[in-house]
Amino acid sequence: MVGDRVDIDEGKIVNILPRKNNLIRPKVANVDKLIIVLAPIPEPDYLLLDKQLIFCLKEGISPIIAVNKADIDVDTTEYVRNAYGKYFLVLSVSAKTSYGIAEFYNKIIGSIVCFAGQSAVGKSSLINALFSLSLETGEMSKKIERGKNTTREARLFDIGGAYIADTPGFSSFEISFPEDELKDVYPEFRDITCEFLDCMHIGEKGCGVKTGSVIDDGRYQRYLKIFNELKSQKKY
Ligand code: GDP
Ligand code: ZN
Repeated sequence: MVGDRVDIDEGKIVNILPRKNNLIRPKVANVDKLIIVLAPIPEPDYLLLDKQLIFCLKEGISPIIAVNKADIDVDTTEYVRNAYGKYFLVLSVSAKTSYGIAEFYNKIIGSIVCFAGQSAVGKSSLINALFSLSLETGEMSKKIERGKNTTREARLFDIGGAYIADTPGFSSFEISFPEDELKDVYPEFRDITCEFLDCMHIGEKGCGVKTGSVIDDGRYQRYLKIFNELKSQKKY
């Protein structure tokens, strides 16, 4: 698979090293980071964001929340920083003005990364901005032609030491596991104490979750929604 680490002997692959993860769409192994792109326009889908974050934590991928289009509005960044910034890396960027792109580039260097996010949030524009930056540092000379890949195979582009999966956007976020595991993929809950050790934080008496303090209110409401979705799925 694209992303595999292998042993080579006399020009032949003799061994595929264990994969830390193995994604289906895109078909890439060993993804280190998922760049979840949001923007003021189109309006963020925070339920999707939460599912993407859950997916990352389950797959051993470090999420980076990149709030793009900082040139048109910073309210979105502010909200995302408040709701997620304590537990997740949130970057404010603009592909248009290159604001924050250098910091962004530093965060993904040496990693295999995929981009995710709603259509038109600026994923392609960000990849181009990162690519332009790496050109300035003189590490690459080839032009990247994204979106011209007509095969179904994923490819990795080396953007000056960061490997970006060439895909129109990471799209498989089906999450399916026992609902009592959901609490384990919410870093907010690691800091709270509840009366019962196996508390699900869904409104039990003595639960330490005080809405709005350890966890953003909207995010907690979505937690309850996702909990109920998992509970009614039961297909794992
Ligand atoms: P994708 O579908 O996520 O790959 O999004 P695109 O990269 O195609 O961008 C969608 C639209 O948003 C295009 O019209 C871009 O010019 C615009 N766009 C992308 N980044 C920015 C940005 O930082 N600021 C502004 N104002 N517009 C942007
Ligand atoms: Zn609790």
